[in-house]
Amino acid sequence: ELFGNDHPIHIEVGMGKGQFIIEMARRNPEVNYIGIERYSSVLLRALERFDNDEEYKDVNNIRFICMDATNLPEVFAVGEIDKIYLNFSDPWPKARHAKRRLTSKQFFERYDKILAFDGVVEFKTDNRELFDFSLEQVEVAGWQLDNYTFDLHHSEYAEGNVMTEYEEKFSAMGNPICRMVIKPPKKK
Ligand code: SAM
Repeated sequence: ELFGNDHPIHIEVGMGKGQFIIEMARRNPEVNYIGIERYSSVLLRALERFDNDEEYKDVNNIRFICMDATNLPEVFAVGEIDKIYLNFSDPWPKARHAKRRLTSKQFFERYDKILAFDGVVEFKTDNRELFDFSLEQVEVAGWQLDNYTFDLHHSEYAEGNVMTEYEEKFSAMGNPICRMVIKPPKKK
């Protein structure tokens, strides 16, 4: 309704300064994008990039929401979202904070509610511990692993990859980038 069309909706949870999702919107006008970030000061940087860069002046398939991802099921309707991007999510290294990780089984439940039939989550990180934890959570939650790689930039999935701010920084330091594409359990 807001976009005035029925194109699929892709969201990025924790978009930071928005480099990835704004560029995705420019490249894919047939998809509606929503960037989600919980800190208004950070979201403002994304808005400034979007408003001030000539390159994006004709891009009108993107919106932004300042919110905590915990509230996703209250903001989006059941099955409304076709793809969720999680890029370089905060690791929350202490075990007692595991529930806060955006790839915990608690967050998978939230994503399951808003994802369309055949909807997917794509997760990129250079943090191998977080990636391994996420692979475990996929299994614990009964989700399906479509594909994964421990070195995206040297994999068959490298072509067309749009880099995030953190991805540029960490790959420049020589860190391999891990990526997984996952789906909720099959619904009957
Ligand atoms: N995705 C960007 C990138 O790859 O360059 C930013 C990565 S940064 C490490 C993680 C971002 O996610 C931060 O801006 C943080 O405020 C945001 N974030 C973390 N937890 C969140 C949550 N529960 N809801 C919304 N945003 C969150």
